[in-house]
Amino acid sequence: MRFCPGCGTELAGAAFVQEYWAAQDRHVVCWCPGCALMCTVVLGQLVGTEPEH
Ligand SMILES: [Zn+2]
Repeated sequence: MRFCPGCGTELAGAAFVQEYWAAQDRHVVCWCPGCALMCTVVLGQLVGTEPEH
């Protein structure tokens, strides 16, 4: 998450970001200081897993 999905402000260094796991999904909570939008992005499908041997 680099840019706010609401206003497009770059969030690097300014936004509150917290990551947590829910079940098998990785959730990233972002807060934009520009428009006070709080959003949660689910990255469940982007989680890298080691290939099975
Ligand atoms: Zn914003």
